[in-house]
Amino acid sequence: MELYQKTIHDIAAHLKAKKLSSVELTKATLAHLKAVEPKVQSFITVTEETALAQAAEADKKIASGTNVTPLTGIPLGIKDLLCTKGVQTTCASKMLEGFKPPYNATVVERLNAAGAVMVGKTNMDEFAMGSSTETSYYKKTKNPWNLSCVPGGSSGGSASCVSADQAFGSLGSDTGGSIRQPASLCGIVGLKPTYGRVSRYGLIAFASSLDQIGPMTKDVEDCALMMNVISGHDEKDSTSADVAVPDYAVEMKKSIKGLKIGIPKEFFPKELNPEVSEAVKKAIEQLKSLGAEVHEISLPHSPYSLAAYYVLAPSEASSNLARYDGVRYGLRVSGENIVEMYSKTRAAGFGPEVKRRIMLGTYALYSGYYDAYYLKALKVRRLIKQDYDKAFEKVDVIVTPTVPNPAFKFGEKTDNPLTMYLEDIFTISINIAGVPALSLPCGISKTDLPIGLQIIGKPFDEAALLKTAYAYEQSTDWHKRKPSLKES
Ligand code: GLN
Repeated sequence: MELYQKTIHDIAAHLKAKKLSSVELTKATLAHLKAVEPKVQSFITVTEETALAQAAEADKKIASGTNVTPLTGIPLGIKDLLCTKGVQTTCASKMLEGFKPPYNATVVERLNAAGAVMVGKTNMDEFAMGSSTETSYYKKTKNPWNLSCVPGGSSGGSASCVSADQAFGSLGSDTGGSIRQPASLCGIVGLKPTYGRVSRYGLIAFASSLDQIGPMTKDVEDCALMMNVISGHDEKDSTSADVAVPDYAVEMKKSIKGLKIGIPKEFFPKELNPEVSEAVKKAIEQLKSLGAEVHEISLPHSPYSLAAYYVLAPSEASSNLARYDGVRYGLRVSGENIVEMYSKTRAAGFGPEVKRRIMLGTYALYSGYYDAYYLKALKVRRLIKQDYDKAFEKVDVIVTPTVPNPAFKFGEKTDNPLTMYLEDIFTISINIAGVPALSLPCGISKTDLPIGLQIIGKPFDEAALLKTAYAYEQSTDWHKRKPSLKES
């Protein structure tokens, strides 16, 4: 096995034992990253110089034994909507081409303090709007399992870079499924934490009441290690919660004997892809054999989550994206007067999906329609949240498929936005309710594409997700399979 193919917990042990330096590791990872990048296209910016400087720093820390964490010296990818001081941060939009933030996002600061190494900024859907990374202004990221398929989105580059071993882990963001859906499509682990668990300071906002940052990794233990670093209260984000952070790497190893698992009947419709349905049902059997109890439950309002999301998320986006006016950030196209300058800038800077969302949101918030759309969607949001509260009175975690189908081909869903929106049918209600959820590999389709299992938890009980996922993962070997990096 090559160095770059290992997991964070494996390689951290080598680094700590000084069998290997972070500079050696980072060089090997960058060489592989560059060799496969023409095929996969995970990155908008590769930060080779920063990476080598951070690796040298990490080696100093390891040599002196000060502040060494399991992430010290480990090469990671960062989604290009997280502000990185002095390093271009584009949100995959033409609007922010060349934008170099003057500060770091809190999560980036925390990774830096833990001694991690950033190898690059990963590709994504423009402003995180999409499920295939096809709305990026810059490039089309390929699914490492089949280069003619999409990696999912919006954190497509963060998923593909981990799957193709270009980085040991990455950060993504999830507003309606953007960590879990690409993790599922690329055969890796992705966790969307509870709303408020991880600081959003320095995350370029899409829909602020739904956005969360989370880890994307090769296995569950690595996910726990990244959660240990990024979680916790931050005074710079007023919505970040002051709730104690357990040691997830310890919690993860606890037994799941007697754990109560809920299976919501609404997430297993007749139309569900038979291979996905079979893989998920087998995984549930496996969890049972490990000592969990399985109960059928109902989340009766989940059929309304997609409709509520496509009022709430665009409404928030239309407000958040008002700041791109050619005055303060990024692109400016000049005009005869200021209004013409605004409209020319916005017309040239945003792609079609972003414009569609801004128009949808502006419409829903229009004073005459506010009650009929936005207010109504907020009421539906409350009902969805109450469904979860009720379910969690009876069960500890909920298990579902992450996505209804394995990865699809480029262009297959771009003509009809609704078919693309349906990709998130199983992930979206979780953001609406603000609860945490994790996706991990639970099968491979006949066409050699990964299938994901979603585990949903109570607010701030990421430990239960990691424990369930770890027990399952240790009894299977899906996480050990590697993608082909071939086209078919
Ligand atoms: N695919 C969903 C959307 O397009 C969710 C995106 C996300 O989670 N950022 O809005």
